[in-house]
Amino acid sequence: MVPQEILVSFVRPVVMDRVEIESFLRKRFRDIKKPKMRSVLRIQDEVLSGLRDFLRGEGFVEILAPIIGPVTDPGIRGARQVSFDYYGHRFKIMSSMILYKQMVISSLDKTFALSPNVRLEPEATLATGRHLSEFRQLDLEVAEVSYFDVMELGERMVHYVCDRVKRQRAEDLKRLGRELRSHSPPFRRMSHAEAVDLLRSEGFEVRREEEIPWDAEEALSAMFDEPFWIYDYPLTARGFYDLEDPERPGILRDFDLMYPEGFGEAVSGGEREYQLEGVLARMRATGQDPSQYGWYLDMLREGIRRSAGFGIGIERLTRYICGVENIWDAVPFPKVPGIASL
Ligand code: AMP
Ligand code: MG
Repeated sequence: MVPQEILVSFVRPVVMDRVEIESFLRKRFRDIKKPKMRSVLRIQDEVLSGLRDFLRGEGFVEILAPIIGPVTDPGIRGARQVSFDYYGHRFKIMSSMILYKQMVISSLDKTFALSPNVRLEPEATLATGRHLSEFRQLDLEVAEVSYFDVMELGERMVHYVCDRVKRQRAEDLKRLGRELRSHSPPFRRMSHAEAVDLLRSEGFEVRREEEIPWDAEEALSAMFDEPFWIYDYPLTARGFYDLEDPERPGILRDFDLMYPEGFGEAVSGGEREYQLEGVLARMRATGQDPSQYGWYLDMLREGIRRSAGFGIGIERLTRYICGVENIWDAVPFPKVPGIASL
């Protein structure tokens, strides 16, 4: 439980048990007719066109995302991947298209895709208010830039979209009772080590070498009233594709963006490990079997460009902008961890 005195303002997921959620979601065909849901969907439409307009203005080229493939993102923090038989081969549904983005960057300097992802998240995430088992990321990648460059891009993008929704969808925000603040970049930045210190000073048990646990992430997010960055995660916290800083062994050149008010993580990203030897060493260290990564390792053998990028969850962005408690109210047809409803 988060101590109330450290909170600036706070959204809490509505606590419902599994049976309640299941029957509630089965009636989505009723809820979708309600004015509040209509406002959420109209805002989501504005978010999507805002993201696309912003990125096109920055010179990005949109590509079509893969849905299935022999390999996908292994760094998905406790969630299971979905695999199935594909003409006698084991294929996976994309948990993220990170490995494919690294291919495209050899052709286009700046690219993005609206990527559908499936992750069978632990059932405990039902209570976080921010986990779905099917969701969409706007996944982008930029060649030959640093992680600070894409952080700067990301904060301008979030600001642009929030500002645009406030201007174009004021009526819908009002109907939802959401007073969305518009925060101008630059956003505050703190290192992972600083975030851990801050959480420890508030009594949270957080380990230096890991991702921040979900309850602590929510508490940290609730301590601020504007979005903020956490950067330089420890090597042990992430998948094999985030680049270790050559000058600071054990530290990754990567980041997360946090929404304020308890909404939690918005974005994860970083610079990419792009050299074959580095990737192989990291695969071994993270328990991945290189023989599963056929085309990806062939590609690295021929050489790829350096790049940096990130993914921003569309449903989480909608949840934050609309101020809805649970992420399943930020998507028309929610797939919720552990619940088979619609
Ligand atoms: P990741 O690289 O795993 O951090 O995923 C990138 C972004 O996708 C996150 O920062 C979230 O915005 C979003 N995301 C990740 N997992 C989920 C999930 N289970 N449900 C909804 N959004 C998610
Ligand atoms: Mg993340």
